[in-house]
Amino acid sequence: MSDCIFCKIIAGDIPAKKLYEDDEVMAFWDIAPQAPVHFLVIPKKHLAAPVDVEEVDDRVIGKLIRIGAQLAKENGVGDGFRVIFNNGKKAGQEVFHIHMHILGGRERPWPL
Ligand code: 5GP
Ligand code: ZN
Repeated sequence: MSDCIFCKIIAGDIPAKKLYEDDEVMAFWDIAPQAPVHFLVIPKKHLAAPVDVEEVDDRVIGKLIRIGAQLAKENGVGDGFRVIFNNGKKAGQEVFHIHMHILGGRERPWPL
């Protein structure tokens, strides 16, 4: 997707502070962190939002969680972090390439 900011990060056309990369997943620090530890984990395949995930994507979406948890541990918040997918403008989604937020290091009562 030529007009997608996260596809541009994957392509290396826009810089990002990378935490992890393999052939199907990338993780990088959020540019506007909402917690001491705040990074995004994305599939390299362009899917706009959670609602666009199909059965063929099940494995890689599961992998986002596994990699996100591993990176949370490596960054000192393995004992407490939030995992968030926003779906749609009404829910605050701003970038329409599916991404999983991992937030840690700040106590925050559910569901705020
Ligand atoms: P959303 O609101 O769509 O769930 O979250 C999008 C997230 O992407 C936001 O937390 C925002 O700060 C982050 N973001 C937007 N543009 C960029 C960028 O160019 N680089 C990085 N690293 N993060 C970005
Ligand atoms: Zn994209």
